[in-house]
Amino acid sequence: MEPKVYSLSEHQIAPDQIDTHAFYVIQKLKEAGHKAYLVGGGVRDLLLQQKPKDFDVSTSAKPEEIRGIFRNAILIGRRFRLAHVRFGRKVIEVSTFRSGDTETADLIVRDNEWGTEEQDVLRRDFTINGLFYDPESQEIIDYVDGYLDLEKRLLRTIGQPEARFIQDPVRMIRLIKFCARFQFEIDAPTFQALLNCKGDILNSSSARVFEELLRMLESGASRPFFHLLQEYGLLQPLLPNLAEALQEKEIAEPTFRLLEETDAEMKKQLGQPLDRALLLSVLLFPLFEIIIQHKSSRQPLHLGQIAELSHQLLDEVFSPFFQLPRRMRAILSLILTAQFRILPLESRGQKKLRAPLDPIFSMALHLFKWRAAVQPELLPTYTDWTEAMYQGAESPAPLPPRRRRRRRRRS
Ligand code: ATP
Ligand code: MG
Repeated sequence: MEPKVYSLSEHQIAPDQIDTHAFYVIQKLKEAGHKAYLVGGGVRDLLLQQKPKDFDVSTSAKPEEIRGIFRNAILIGRRFRLAHVRFGRKVIEVSTFRSGDTETADLIVRDNEWGTEEQDVLRRDFTINGLFYDPESQEIIDYVDGYLDLEKRLLRTIGQPEARFIQDPVRMIRLIKFCARFQFEIDAPTFQALLNCKGDILNSSSARVFEELLRMLESGASRPFFHLLQEYGLLQPLLPNLAEALQEKEIAEPTFRLLEETDAEMKKQLGQPLDRALLLSVLLFPLFEIIIQHKSSRQPLHLGQIAELSHQLLDEVFSPFFQLPRRMRAILSLILTAQFRILPLESRGQKKLRAPLDPIFSMALHLFKWRAAVQPELLPTYTDWTEAMYQGAESPAPLPPRRRRRRRRRS
């Protein structure tokens, strides 16, 4: 198939927007006699005049050949083998053209069949992610009408949508991610396939899905993402307890408002990620608060009981599909429990606040800050605690405990 080719005068991607390291990698591969292009999200974002998160390179060179060309390359991945070319902390991902069986509706377990550049495009997920850019000729090479779809702001799978979702159900999560991030429309057959295949999401690797959820919490578009995930029925198979809770207005409203607050903050400080446990706590706190209020209606719970209930909630919400990493589970539980230390269930009168100077308590206070933005009546409590933290930080560090002098036994 002949691709459509768009020149600089049409696409207007200024050459200086291309990452210099990606450009260098492409040049070196070409000098060694291979084909190489910029591909995927980087090209898409440049055309949308957004700053790309990363630049990926697609090439005819095989992984071993790539490693032969770049001393700073390492090969990674089994399911999807590719090279990471490192420049300090920056990594350019270089993958070999692959052919995928794009029509058969079987779950893909490995994806390491080498192919032509056209085959490489056809195994990609959405048309807007299937564009090549050649930095030398400054041309966009389009086998799938992705350029026109970008102009139409349309999300469409490459190939038959149902087959593509069954092959790799994580693509459904990616569809919703792009929908939330760019506010694009979903092409009707792709949307129908999403509705038909949503239950298949449980056939995918839970680690990959979990990673996509966490990335979306970091993206600045988590509110529309989780909203769409719920609306299109994908949250239900993944996190059934949370999906059920979000049907209640009194839980849904504060949850989505809290997500809005985190999105606003993430957009401001892009590049400075917050702890992922803190971001997850946003998703769970309104549900947890209702549980605690309910359980403490007769007699207020103490912090030990609250901590126990937080563990119970985490087990119930994430199982059976996800396995919460142990460290994350522990921090999440502490953040959720500390909300009731910051604002106790029962007012204890004027007591001097003592804020521990540990990073997890800071995270708990960070969540409380978002809660106070949603519920302004919490603001004075938030101010009191930040002052207490500040004073704690100023006071000199406590001296190490003095060694007790052993008394000489009198003989
Ligand atoms: P982001 O901006 O979030 O990084 P992205 O589209 O660049 O979005 P990556 O995970 O970096 O996402 O993937 C790079 C490219 O690899 C995609 O643009 C797409 O062409 C292809 N790709 C990624 N995941 C899949 C998948 N599950 N199935 C098919 N192709 C995929
Ligand atoms: Mg990317």
